[in-house]
Amino acid sequence: MKIPFVDLHAQYLSIKDEIDKAIAEVIAQSAYIRGPHVNAFEETWAKTVGVKRCISCANGTDAIYIALRGLGLKRGDEVITSAHSWISTSETITQAGGRVVFCDTDEETFTIDPIDVEKKITPATVGIVPVHLYGQPADTGAIMAIARKHNLWVIEDCAQAHLASYKGQLVGTFGNVATFSFYPGKNLGAYGDAGCVVTNDDRLADWMATFARHGGKADHIMEGMNSRMDGLQAAILNAKLPHLPAWTAARRRVAALYNELLEDVGDVITPTVKSDRDHVYHLYVIRTENRDALREHLSQAGISTGLHYAKALPFYPAYAYLGHVPKNFPAAYFNQSRILSLPIYPEMPEEAITHVANVISHFWSSESPKVIELTAANLIGIERRTPVLSDN
Ligand SMILES: *Cc1c(COP(=O)(O)O)cnc(C)c1O
Repeated sequence: MKIPFVDLHAQYLSIKDEIDKAIAEVIAQSAYIRGPHVNAFEETWAKTVGVKRCISCANGTDAIYIALRGLGLKRGDEVITSAHSWISTSETITQAGGRVVFCDTDEETFTIDPIDVEKKITPATVGIVPVHLYGQPADTGAIMAIARKHNLWVIEDCAQAHLASYKGQLVGTFGNVATFSFYPGKNLGAYGDAGCVVTNDDRLADWMATFARHGGKADHIMEGMNSRMDGLQAAILNAKLPHLPAWTAARRRVAALYNELLEDVGDVITPTVKSDRDHVYHLYVIRTENRDALREHLSQAGISTGLHYAKALPFYPAYAYLGHVPKNFPAAYFNQSRILSLPIYPEMPEEAITHVANVISHFWSSESPKVIELTAANLIGIERRTPVLSDN
């Protein structure tokens, strides 16, 4: 049985009539740029998240850049963000003129560690960009408390966390601004690139809307950029949005079954969800010291897996200039060799979930010669548990 990492076609087939009708309507109206579908999506998404304003844009990366510019980032300002994320979160800080300051993560949830955030604050710090990674909210209460105490703004990167909540409140409603991606594979995905920023601050919303549309149409009050969601993507998102709660529930069911089936398998650690957070499982990420061998075993069985991400951000060549070493980010570094994303999508059949779990179990069964008892990764793990706390 071949099992894909995600199956976007299965979702299309489940709502084919609605999608085809939406696309046909855009074409019949030639409503390609701006227009009724984009306006409707902005309105509905703001209502869904529970914020005053939603400004659509071309993708989730632009959304972060627009938010950073909207908050008035100046050259040399320091912005604190997570060492464990997709590079959009940090590259936009640099592009907007700021300096990226990475923070370590909580070893169990992979989200930014509030204790490290507070340690990294300097007089140049202006804001924090927490990421609700894999669909689990960051420790949002602690982050917001630090932001208030030090007078910093917060941009929530919600690209993986549509409808996730912290203490019963939806993500995207805590920070000064929140950003979403509607990349096809995201929990709410377009059929191409799309994204948005949301905020309760009307003045900021107006500025960001103007900036994202060339600094104004009739009157260019500044130089802006061209970042827009097109009508086709908006119509597709409008057709999909009513299904998002059911798809989110389905993702949770897939995760619950994986949790049950993988509970006592090898050294597998299933995702830890904090009691004050609701996880929407954009990704289902396990941890194991045998990651690479298990991944190969799954691949040979026709099961696709992913690494999110291959390395923690500070250890990519793009950030070599910061001169970081593993002990600067012990948890993020430790996890980069242990994380493995298993296939998950709302339409995933129960037999497929069971099959993945069985193939994983087989890896640890007596017939399988592939298990590494004490790997190099294991040894690093042991060292990691007695962290060196000197500088560097
Ligand atoms: C997908 C993603 C983005 C960027 O979204 P795009 O629409 O691909 O530009 C930003 N941050 C995180 C954490 C993401 O997963």
